[in-house]
Amino acid sequence: PPLYKQRYQFVKDLVGKYKPKKVADLGCADCTLLWMLKFYNCIEVLAGLDICASVMKEKMHRLYPLPADYLQPSERSLTVTLHHGSVAHEDPCMLGFDLVTCIELIEHLEESELEKFPEVVFGFMAPTMVVISTPNSEFNPLLPGVTVFRHQDHKFEWDRAQFQSWALDAAKRYGYSVEFTGVGNPPTGMEDVGFCTQIAVFVKKYPQTSEPAQSKKPTEAAYKTVRFSGN
Ligand code: SAM
Repeated sequence: PPLYKQRYQFVKDLVGKYKPKKVADLGCADCTLLWMLKFYNCIEVLAGLDICASVMKEKMHRLYPLPADYLQPSERSLTVTLHHGSVAHEDPCMLGFDLVTCIELIEHLEESELEKFPEVVFGFMAPTMVVISTPNSEFNPLLPGVTVFRHQDHKFEWDRAQFQSWALDAAKRYGYSVEFTGVGNPPTGMEDVGFCTQIAVFVKKYPQTSEPAQSKKPTEAAYKTVRFSGN
């Protein structure tokens, strides 16, 4: 299967395994991943965030309830929220999530945004689990036609050592453990380059039952939000 499907499948497998109730997708683009996650009954809250409102809203109708949801209402209630804003800004709507996904997002961030990203995602949002995927630049020589970056909007592409040192630093600073994996296997004999897409899975080390830090967290909204029922 194409690489983007393998990335979505990776997230779907995690959701199947850990059964998070609240999932946020940062840099959700046209909401394809959110739409796929909608069919997991464990999920009660789905949130998307993107800096580009038009791409996010283009196919958001896919997240609306289906006729079957009216004909055969299920026990679970699903609330979907879409937020127009940047991962460089904190907004209280992103608090309390079990899983936050950032699929092919970080390489699109400007230097100043990337600098704020760990504090916003791990420090402020502080979900139980975070998944971050990004290209592995060591794989690039195997991709036809790729000279500098895989996409002209990429601000950087990291090799495994760069991504892992960035991720380990964030994990250490904010109290997460992190494991590295990926999707897109290298061809036989070229295993040394690693996966085409590198993935880090972070898990909070000391999950808090009560949230004492919450009191000092801002309550002011930074994002523009649409909220609706998904079933
Ligand atoms: N996650 C999707 C996927 O895997 O199919 C889309 C990834 S797309 C390559 C990157 C997305 O990140 C774009 O939709 C872009 O608008 C969004 N983005 C870029 N900078 C952002 C920021 N600072 N805050 C939120 N989203 C941002």
